[in-house]
Amino acid sequence: MAADCLFCRIIRKEIPAKLVHESDECVAFHDIDPKAPVHVLVIPREHAGSLNDISDPAVVGRLALVAADIARREGIAESGYRTVINTNRDGGQTVSHLHLHLLGGRHMSWPPG
Ligand code: AMP
Ligand code: ZN
Repeated sequence: MAADCLFCRIIRKEIPAKLVHESDECVAFHDIDPKAPVHVLVIPREHAGSLNDISDPAVVGRLALVAADIARREGIAESGYRTVINTNRDGGQTVSHLHLHLLGGRHMSWPPG
């Protein structure tokens, strides 16, 4: 847990969020500034600054499977969705707690900007 990390504070419920999943390992909530009709962030409870800090593949595996489960619940599994992990400056990461974006409910263009 990092004292001043925004997403750690959401995990501790010091900052409100629209939670859609809570387990021993992961938490998921709606993005405050959604870029698609469905935009959910899936994060590990244990603080990690970015993908660069992960050594256990299960951490990322859990984020992906939670996202797929939420996609089914949100009704976008068949139409499709995109999962994204932005890392550091060039990746466009703005919050330094590892998070996986689940985006869906509209067509996603490729390549990303
Ligand atoms: P990234 O730019 O990949 O680091 O993604 C960070 C995401 O966190 C952005 O999509 C923000 O809109 C989102 N965000 C920032 N603050 C909050 C918050 N308090 N609750 C929910 N989502 C947030
Ligand atoms: Zn954190």
